[in-house]
Amino acid sequence: MNDHPDSHHDHEHGSELSEAALRVRALETILTEKGYIDPAALDVIIETYETKIGPRNGARVVARAWRDADFKARLMADATAAIAELGYSGRQGEHMRVVENTPVLHNMVVCTLCSCYPWPVLGLPPVWYKSTPYRSRAVIDPRGVLKDFGVELPVTTRIRVWDSTAEMRYLVLPMRPSGTEGLGEEELAALVTRDSMIGTGLPLSEGRAR
Ligand code: FE
Repeated sequence: MNDHPDSHHDHEHGSELSEAALRVRALETILTEKGYIDPAALDVIIETYETKIGPRNGARVVARAWRDADFKARLMADATAAIAELGYSGRQGEHMRVVENTPVLHNMVVCTLCSCYPWPVLGLPPVWYKSTPYRSRAVIDPRGVLKDFGVELPVTTRIRVWDSTAEMRYLVLPMRPSGTEGLGEEELAALVTRDSMIGTGLPLSEGRAR
């Protein structure tokens, strides 16, 4: 008999951890127990790479594309090379493709197989990106996933889902918010959120820059 008929678990319980992840976890546990590392400090470092350092690179790429038509053309033709112009290249970003949002097309990125993600422009993938619910639902019900992320698009906007692989990583070029014609690259970059470059969010509007 089930004592908790109404309980359900919406997260994984570690059963899908790769061998590498298990080794990292074991090492982290030992180092923490011996007092070599502070897990809270590790979390801060990882959080910083996930949300601050990494995605700011991508935000610069987007802001440049919004302001510079020639750069945007190069970005759409050969994203890897154009992104390298800004100094962002390296592992997990060797084969990049930029997909552009328009009023009739919204792009969203997932890795259905694991967690492929464009590190040089977005840093480390967020936890939800690696979760089974996101990886499966993004393909089956992208509009529902977007709603969960607080994004409701017009029914006339088509949603296209791109499945990242080791061979190809995607960066979404979101639509430039209206009323931002006078802004410089730095100000524009401040409007570009990480999620807007994965396609699970939209850029901030002017005045809401972080
Ligand atoms: Fe993957």
